[in-house]
Amino acid sequence: KLHNTILELKGNIRVFCRVRPLLPDDGVVTEQKVISYPTTTEALGRGIDLLQNGQRHSFTFDTVFMPEASQEDVFVEISQLVQSALDGYKVCIFAYGQTGSGKTYTMMGRPGSPDQKGLIPRSLEQIFQTRQSLQAQGWKYEMQVSMLEIYNETIRDLLSTNRSCSTENGVAGKQYTIKHDANGNTHVSDLTIVDVRSSREVSFLLDQAAQSRSVGKTQMNEQSSRSHFVFTLRISGINESTEQQVQGVLNLIDLAGSERLSKSGSTGDRLKETQAINKSLSSLSDVIFALAKKEDHVPFRNSKLTYLLQPCLGGDSKTLMFVNVSPDPSSLGESLCSLRFAARVN
Ligand code: ADP
Ligand code: MG
Repeated sequence: KLHNTILELKGNIRVFCRVRPLLPDDGVVTEQKVISYPTTTEALGRGIDLLQNGQRHSFTFDTVFMPEASQEDVFVEISQLVQSALDGYKVCIFAYGQTGSGKTYTMMGRPGSPDQKGLIPRSLEQIFQTRQSLQAQGWKYEMQVSMLEIYNETIRDLLSTNRSCSTENGVAGKQYTIKHDANGNTHVSDLTIVDVRSSREVSFLLDQAAQSRSVGKTQMNEQSSRSHFVFTLRISGINESTEQQVQGVLNLIDLAGSERLSKSGSTGDRLKETQAINKSLSSLSDVIFALAKKEDHVPFRNSKLTYLLQPCLGGDSKTLMFVNVSPDPSSLGESLCSLRFAARVN
């Protein structure tokens, strides 16, 4: 569109696979290797093979990050996509995978370790840096942040300061109804939206959201892995000399764990949670698949997540899905499910 490199996209949907390193906690006792990378020995490639009972399952993605790929290696591959939000594109980046596969590490990184910062803090630093250099060309930007989580098809505002009376349905009396306007913008009633001027301000809000999530956790006996986390940065820019205007959105989404609970043993609240998660993840897959196939009917309304993000999916918006997998042999079944999910999207 305007000042930056235009991404060449296959459609507007790309899928990256990331395999995390084996961790001491994985408790691997055998040397059995269940994941291999046929096409390259570098930190990133395109092919990945899973071996299950002697059978090979091969997948190809836009990029496959090997366990040794650093946060910086990953960010290099997405920085243009992030940049395009400043050009007025609507961008969604998702992390999909079972609990423990590295979604939050990819999105947020490891707290207190600057070189292990994830793509949310890196994206914000880049955006605010670029904004500064674009000022010289007459661009003025306004940025707004909101953060929410979707738990059991219910929205919770993570930046609400009125946390004292929050309930399972969020802050008492608040509805969080989702509406779309004619300009393709999403409005969530009662949601806190904060004007931000620096990446430090956003870091502060991210900390606040993390705290709010853990408060909710104890109140509802819920783990953050059972809810979707949606970070949204709205960018509106105007060039004072040319009067050009842009409206971009960057959505960064840490999805709920994709694991299927074993059929026995899941009852009550846990079963309800799992059903809600399965429903929203499968409707996300349905939506992305319908968009990729350019189908006339895209079932956005089947879940809160897809309805919320509707204006940022499809059209000339850009979508990137990370599928995170663990190299632990005991996770093989789930890894295979994740890769199949992502391959359909791909
Ligand atoms: P998820 O959010 O999918 O449940 P996490 O991001 O919390 O998973 O990752 C699980 C554990 O693995 C964490 O301790 C995290 O720090 C670690 N981890 C994940 N990915 C990597 C990676 N690429 N490099 C090093 N450690 C990682
Ligand atoms: Mg997580």
